[in-house]
Amino acid sequence: MKVTFLGTGTAVDTQKAQSCVLVEDSARILIDIGCGAFRRLGDVGVRVEEIDAVLITHNHLDHNADLLPLLKARWLENAGKLEIYGPPGTKAFVESLLEAFPYLRQKLSFEVNEESSFEVCGMKVETIPTFHSIVSRAYVIDGALVVSGDTRAFPELFSIECDALIHELSLPSGQSDFHTTPENMKECLDKAKAERIFYTHMYPHAYAVKDDILAFLGFGEIAEDLMSFSI
Ligand SMILES: [Zn+2]
Ligand SMILES: [Zn+2]
Repeated sequence: MKVTFLGTGTAVDTQKAQSCVLVEDSARILIDIGCGAFRRLGDVGVRVEEIDAVLITHNHLDHNADLLPLLKARWLENAGKLEIYGPPGTKAFVESLLEAFPYLRQKLSFEVNEESSFEVCGMKVETIPTFHSIVSRAYVIDGALVVSGDTRAFPELFSIECDALIHELSLPSGQSDFHTTPENMKECLDKAKAERIFYTHMYPHAYAVKDDILAFLGFGEIAEDLMSFSI
């Protein structure tokens, strides 16, 4: 399984693409597709019609903004069926996009599912509810890769024995809301069973002190756009 960060930024970044992870194995899957992720497909040489599924962690704009451009491009390229997965509300979200652009329905092939476990081309996917300001879920891909989406760090994700955990680390020390802080992360790191941990979705004021954060945590790597690894 090859994993590539297409976007590691947040809603305020203009230098990075917003949240998107490309997983390539028996299927090509995008986990989230924030603004700028569509453009990054060209950077890694993946054509729009080669994506089998998009898995949305939650329906904030920095995680789903480029879904509509992807659908429009696939409409033009006569692509096959795109499977879209997401938490409750995702069907209504996609319907609202197509209400604004009804002509896309004519030949667009897609299916939206809100199930909590499913398979994409033989790859098993499980979901775990996370702690965010709206309904949100983490994804576990083939038992090997865990992607947190937006959430406060909580022990369940860290207790999974996996090859890699991609976890958000939005905020610097001392701030607290529905995102992860270094202190919040460190509490969970003690129980971490993942072989590698990648931190992503850092707001610029957190990214600016990333070396201090890494020193504090003592484990893990900071994800950058277009970084990739194999598991
Ligand atoms: Zn969010
Ligand atoms: Zn976000």
